Amino acid sequence: MAQWFALKAEHPDALLFFRMGDFYELFFNDAEAAASALDISLTARGTHGGEPIPMCGVPVHAAQAYLARLIRRGFRVSVAEQTEQPRKGRPASKGPLRRAVVRLITPGTLTEDELLEAGRQNLLACIVCPTGRDSADPGLAWIDISTGLFETACVPARDMHDLLGRLDPAEILCADNVELGDFADRRTPVLLPAGPEAARQRMAEAFGVASLDAFGTFSDAEALAAGAAIDYIRRSQAGQLPRLSHPRPSYSGDVLGLDPATRASLDLLRTRDGTTEHTLFAAVARTVTAAGSRLLADWIAAPLTDPERIARRQAGWTWLLDKHGIRDDLRACLRTAPDMARALGRLSLGRGQPRDAVAIRIALGVAREVGQILNRQEELPPILAQAVGHLDRAHELQDLLARALAENPPARLDDGGIIATGYDEELDAQRELRDGSRRVIAALQKEYAEQFDIANLKIRHHAQLGYVIEVPAAASARLRGHEDLIMRQGTASASRFSTERLVSLDQQIAQAAENAGLRERHLFTQVVRHILDEAALPDMAAALSCIDIAQSCAMLAGGGTWCCPVVGDDTGFVIEGCRHPVVEAALPRNARFTPNDCDLEPDRRIMLLTGPNMAGKSTFLRQTALAVILAQAGLPVAAQAMRIGVVDRLFSRVGAADDLARGRSTFMVEMTETAAILNQAGPKSLVVVDEIGRGTSTLDGLAIAWAVLETLHSTLRSRAIFATHFHELAELANSMPRLSPHTMSVREWKGQVIFQHEVIPGCARRSWGVHVARLAGVPEPVVRRAGRLLGMLEKERGRQAPPLPLFEQHMAEKPEEDIAPPSPAVPPAVVDMLEELDPDALSPRTALEMLYKLKKLL
Ligand code: ADP
Repeated sequence: MAQWFALKAEHPDALLFFRMGDFYELFFNDAEAAASALDISLTARGTHGGEPIPMCGVPVHAAQAYLARLIRRGFRVSVAEQTEQPRKGRPASKGPLRRAVVRLITPGTLTEDELLEAGRQNLLACIVCPTGRDSADPGLAWIDISTGLFETACVPARDMHDLLGRLDPAEILCADNVELGDFADRRTPVLLPAGPEAARQRMAEAFGVASLDAFGTFSDAEALAAGAAIDYIRRSQAGQLPRLSHPRPSYSGDVLGLDPATRASLDLLRTRDGTTEHTLFAAVARTVTAAGSRLLADWIAAPLTDPERIARRQAGWTWLLDKHGIRDDLRACLRTAPDMARALGRLSLGRGQPRDAVAIRIALGVAREVGQILNRQEELPPILAQAVGHLDRAHELQDLLARALAENPPARLDDGGIIATGYDEELDAQRELRDGSRRVIAALQKEYAEQFDIANLKIRHHAQLGYVIEVPAAASARLRGHEDLIMRQGTASASRFSTERLVSLDQQIAQAAENAGLRERHLFTQVVRHILDEAALPDMAAALSCIDIAQSCAMLAGGGTWCCPVVGDDTGFVIEGCRHPVVEAALPRNARFTPNDCDLEPDRRIMLLTGPNMAGKSTFLRQTALAVILAQAGLPVAAQAMRIGVVDRLFSRVGAADDLARGRSTFMVEMTETAAILNQAGPKSLVVVDEIGRGTSTLDGLAIAWAVLETLHSTLRSRAIFATHFHELAELANSMPRLSPHTMSVREWKGQVIFQHEVIPGCARRSWGVHVARLAGVPEPVVRRAGRLLGMLEKERGRQAPPLPLFEQHMAEKPEEDIAPPSPAVPPAVVDMLEELDPDALSPRTALEMLYKLKKLL
């Protein structure tokens, strides 16, 4: 127990998996927590302070599955292994076997395939916010230890949540006072290096370089974050550090801005309930490798804003579009590629098993083959040509692995048989000795059986006795008294004897087997070192992923219903025949998705969309946002054609903003999100918003929606689709020239409403709410009563002043910048003065005086 307490103290907040033989045992509170989380039985072992010690355990061979469940439930686990082998004859008085914590397992430090999701990165992020008067930007660093990915960024505080949304880290190291919003439950307290210099030192050491300059410039906060993440990983891996890619300061605003609310409303990689099925990713992924899926997920999470880079990605898959044969060959070949990056990650942590080395061998073969398929082609687009350049390398390693590794090695290193025969003379000799002696034993068995005339005499290996002759108890009399034979054991059914010859053979075999095992471990370590020394492998893995994406896109677009968009530098925006890939895929077989055009060209950049519930407004809004994401990620778009000027920030506010759990009312959430848009959107942004102002009274809501619309139209000048229930807003088209009212077409047929899901110019005449209520199954008497009440209310409203004059009056008060002639409400003297004025010729002082004069005239 003393040993247990000492090991537990190393990581008090983690459950301690304490290795005892073939089990990991847990004690005290750990046992209680784990037994209930894993639904396994809780027992007791010994006492402590007079009380029985609660205990539970899991078998070592099944530990991965239990670990996976614990990590998913939010536990951290430290694993203590026996660092000393139990040997025959070791006196118990020497105390318990030595044990040490070899690893701390947390959500951000996983390496095993069983614990990881194959197609997603698993990131550990660290955030450092500079304090005091120094108002520098926060620094972030993120590492995927399963693949060695390592990047850092220095981001303005307001963009931090956008970046976290993009990275979706499994664990975030940061101080308590850093506001994490939706990510709060992923926080782990951070221990920072002593200072920025110490942190830089830590990074340089991790990469074995004298100075970091070669990798770029890192701010103090970035270096601290990176240093802290490296320290944390080292601690969790008992001092080991995986091989990491050289850190890249990555964030320079060259990705499409997507805030967490936008991501949440679009279900890009995960839906709100955490599943992956009905997501944009699932709708577009035709990748056949796990690494390809990870890269594709990364592209979708961080679309680009540089038209040239976008075009470069597009060129990769459009080249493959009409090359069916090559595409099929690539798919067939890539399908057999193991996950090289993750195998490398485990090998570099000293956690590699034979199958990881085999994975590299197979992957090298796949890379060579893929290279050959593409190398035969002329005029490869640059992105593929570059990838191919990384494939035809590491020949020596490939030869070595082919010679060194057995064809089908066992799963575990301890089982032996990993290194191929013929690779190492010494190993072969030890194996020969071991197997030769085994053959001698087989011959001996036959000899003894004949000598004593006992047909079922066997020579068996026994855990405690070593090799023994075993005969049925009934026959044992024939052997007794024979001078060479020593009786070792007799049971009711069998008797066991040994001979000097057997004892010496036993020792020989044990020695040879141990030597062979040691030699094999040594050789495997050497092979692993060769693998890790081969610098070409990470690039090769990345190249295979890139080619996988190219074939995936070509597969998707090959059917002819997806297009390659044109992305330029202007502010144009036209999509023809656009569809929502996820809604489309979920439609029943007999239903057809109605494609819609979306035209937000500069002279009609704001679309006001009215129409009843269930008519398809949100679908249209979302599909437009998704089209932009796909286009800028360099992927095919679910449309007939698309041409847009690059979007710098995308805001999507669609669907229930249900944040009541956090104690904010729906309206408060809606306004907070609206504020975020109004504070950040610009002329290159795209805003798609659904029903702003719905969370408050009608007049309040109308007023807010109106003001927001005005600002988008005239001040921010963004491209936008604004869906609303306030049909009155359509009147604003008279005064806002860039506003184009559209509506969802609805037909009434024999008293039923039919939604045609088609976006047409114009404004909805009615809300059809009562009809939708009927569709939803509201009891018929209630629906009929509501219908009558609606009629009454409409009549009542007809008698009141119509809203139109209100708009006209307002427009007169506050001229809209797009309307050229000043409205008559402006005093003529002011108009005269303004017309004469030449702003370029004014000094600041005269300008100020002029302003005072103008104000007096009003
Ligand atoms: P709204 O936002 O107007 O209430 P939704 O966009 O949620 O409506 O659409 C309601 C349902 O109508 C969707 O779940 C989908 O099944 C169907 N739908 C929407 N748009 C289309 C379309 N273009 N073609 C076919 N079905 C559609």
